[in-house]
Order: sequence, then C-alpha cells, then structure tokens
Amino acid sequence: MQIDIISIFPDFFRGPLDHGIIRRAREAGLVKMETRDLRVHTCDRHRTVDDRPFGGGEGMVLKPEPLFECVESLHLAPREGRFAAKQSVILLSAQGKRFDQAMAAELVTLERIVLICGRYEGVDERVGTHLADREISIGDYVLSGGELGAAVIIDTVTRLIPGALGNEASARQESFHAGAEVGNGDGPDSTCASGGLLDYPHYTRPAEFRGIRVPEVLVNGNHEDIRRWRRRSALEKTFRNRPDLLEQARLSDEDKEVLAEIRASSSWPLGY
Ligand code: SAM
Repeated sequence: MQIDIISIFPDFFRGPLDHGIIRRAREAGLVKMETRDLRVHTCDRHRTVDDRPFGGGEGMVLKPEPLFECVESLHLAPREGRFAAKQSVILLSAQGKRFDQAMAAELVTLERIVLICGRYEGVDERVGTHLADREISIGDYVLSGGELGAAVIIDTVTRLIPGALGNEASARQESFHAGAEVGNGDGPDSTCASGGLLDYPHYTRPAEFRGIRVPEVLVNGNHEDIRRWRRRSALEKTFRNRPDLLEQARLSDEDKEVLAEIRASSSWPLGY
C-alpha cells in the first residue's frame, strides 16, 4: 500500500509517522508514505494556495489549481477507473462521511490512498466534486486542518495491514472489530473477537497497586472463567458507554443471556 498526504504543512507528519507500529510497518516495507507539499504546485512568487471566497464571508479557501495539479502529478488512474485500480483520493472534511473501523477495514484493501488536508475555511468545492472520490470526517467536530484527521486515518488503517501488528489476534479482539469469530473459545490469550463490542478491561502486574487488586478471576488460571469474565466485562462496558453498538454487534446466545442479566441488574442511568 502507498499513502500520499497532500498538505501545506508537510512537516506536521514527522512525528505521527515516525513512531511505533507505523514506523515499523514503513521500515518493513508494508506501507510507503509520502508527504506532498501543496505549495510546490503553485506558480506565483508568494506560493499562494488560498483565496477569498466568492460571495463574501469569513476566511480563506484553498484554491483548486494547486490541488488538482498535485494529484495529477501522482499519475493515478483516471477518476472513473480508480475504484478498479484500488486507488482512492480522499478529501478530509468535517462534512464527509464519518470514519469508523469498518471504513478503515475497507481502505486497507486498497493499494493507494491519497489524503487531501484542507485548511482555513475549507477547500474549493470542485475538489470534492471533481477530484476526490470521497470526503471523510473523523468526527462531529471542526479541526483547524485535515492533518490530524489524516494521521488518525493512517494510524487506524496501517495497524490493519497484515503483518503490521506483532500479534494479529490482538486486532480481532479490539473494540469495534466486527469479525465473524464471536465466542469461538480461542482461549484467554486471545479471548475471542470483539464482534463489534468495546474491548474488555486489561490489567498487568502488580496484582495489587495502592490497595487496588486486579480481579481475582484473572490470576486463578481458569481459562474458561477468564473468557467468560472478559466477555461479560466487554458487554457491560458497551452497555454503559456505547449502547448504540449493541444493535449491530454479533452476539452469541450466551452473550444475549448475559446482556439480559446486565440490563436487569443495571442501576446506571443510561448516558451518565
Ligand atoms: N468550514 C468548514 C466546515 O464548517 O465544515 C471547516 C473547515 S476546517 C476549519 C479546515 C479543514 O480542516 C477542513 O477543510 C478539513 O480538511 C479539516 N477538518 C476539519 N474538521 C474535520 C473533521 N471533523 N474531519 C476531517 N477533517 C476535518
């Protein structure tokens, strides 16, 4: 996979792309990342990338010419053939479709992703309608620029590249993972796929810290008890913090029974 990032602040990515899993994935040749300085694709002395909005109003807008020229310099497939070529040009935008784990799982199947980072009041709309294939938002809030959003997408997608995580099972059991392996009794090391639930709580040594003990079940060595405790904890946490996820989660019959018990015994006001 290759990921190109188009930004007026290419140095912004020095930190986010140079640590941990992303750095290792790059060094192992699993993913290539290139930052592209938008100002390289300007023709005036001041390297102008923005202009005032037609119709008046606040702020400045990123001009279309440098963005079109920058994307064209990457020699991608023509727009109508990009899907077949496993390429996607993505405009980061608060008005885009909301990014989630399912979208990351779709993006990781592509061979090339180009991320366009907006700034100021945003980007000339013709970039969205005639250059990009899709607009993605990382959440319902407004950032100052698309760079943080691009970093979020890159991090999420990169850890899904086969081989990027040391232990592939850890991606299966993480929050939001909607794989088909629910409750398959993988054993306590990998537990089971989250099936779209939030992850279960994790603890490490010491077993007692400032008088707070880890749950006894985790140290007694009974794998089946551990599996059941983890699954119940994941259901409880999802019920408490993200009940909306339960509607789409892949639940076994055992899960449904446990969830009914949790609901019946719950004294948490929802959303609190
Ligand atoms: N006027 C725009 C609006 O109200 O939708 C906000 C522009 S924002 C200040 C500048 C840039 O930040 C956008 O062009 C986009 O690239 C990026 N951005 C802001 N919020 C974002 C979000 N939630 N997800 C992804 N990118 C975002």
